[in-house]
Amino acid sequence: MSAKIIDGKAMAMEIRQEIKKQVEELAQKNIKPGLAVVLVGNDPASQIYVRGKEKACSEVGIASETIRLPEDTSESELLNLISGLNSRQDVHGILVQLPLPKHIDSDKIIRSIVPEKDVDGFHPINVGKLVLGLPGVKPCTPYGCLKMLQKYEIAIEGKKAVVIGRSNIVGKPVALMLLQENATVSICHSRTKELSEYTKEADILIAAAGKPFLIKPDMVKPGAAVIDVGQNKLPDGKLVGDVDFTGVSQVAGWITPVPGGVGPMTIAMLLYNTLESAKRLC
Ligand code: NAD
Repeated sequence: MSAKIIDGKAMAMEIRQEIKKQVEELAQKNIKPGLAVVLVGNDPASQIYVRGKEKACSEVGIASETIRLPEDTSESELLNLISGLNSRQDVHGILVQLPLPKHIDSDKIIRSIVPEKDVDGFHPINVGKLVLGLPGVKPCTPYGCLKMLQKYEIAIEGKKAVVIGRSNIVGKPVALMLLQENATVSICHSRTKELSEYTKEADILIAAAGKPFLIKPDMVKPGAAVIDVGQNKLPDGKLVGDVDFTGVSQVAGWITPVPGGVGPMTIAMLLYNTLESAKRLC
């Protein structure tokens, strides 16, 4: 079998076109969605992510403002800044790029963002809404995974879904979203014994462990949908996911590539969340 490629890049382009159209419509009502991105310190990966977000915003007409702060910024300075952004009418989304320097309590910072502007969907209020199945801001990467399954008409209801990884930003929320769509969900993690016993049963397999080539072809059920969230840099600089793409694409029914799969969808969903937030707040 040769798996159908789930083209996250093409899907993200489509979503961005639609967002651009909606941003133009809002402009006629004098509304311009605005995203404030806060970057503390000099983490090279974070700098790249933030530049990608700025570029994506400008392409669809969302006003983006990046506030770059030095590594030694204090927690109270950051809290003051967020308090200002919370009350600004031209800012509809606030994103604090993680990881933050060690002397700053990330949870406290996330909690200080008003939930309505928390376009990452990390605030406990938004996480709670996800748990309860209530409308709220959904985290971008898991939301992107769900959108890809839906776009390719991959059945979720009644299917066995296995999520590898239990982080608060990917594993747990994507598992909750699949549960909400009536899948039977298992969550595996670094202490799971006999990982392949779970993965071989999965109709939908979401890999979010951050371990290159963790998922081998003999761990995958023939015909399964495999979503590779992992983004791992090999020593030669090549970017790979958690899935052995060449081998697994011979077994799976659908598969996302890395790059060009979940990554572009994450940014598209951030733009979507910012647009929706502007519509709600204006
Ligand atoms: P994390 O380090 O916070 O969590 C990793 C999870 O994987 C943990 O729960 C851990 O228990 C589990 N795990 C680790 N090794 C395992 C193993 N051998 N078997 C089973 N489980 C194992 O990472 P994260 O922030 O959730 O990100 C996961 C991956 O997704 C990373 O590669 C990250 O770069 C990538 N990511 C990609 C996007 C995107 O837009 N494409 C967004 C966020 C994260």
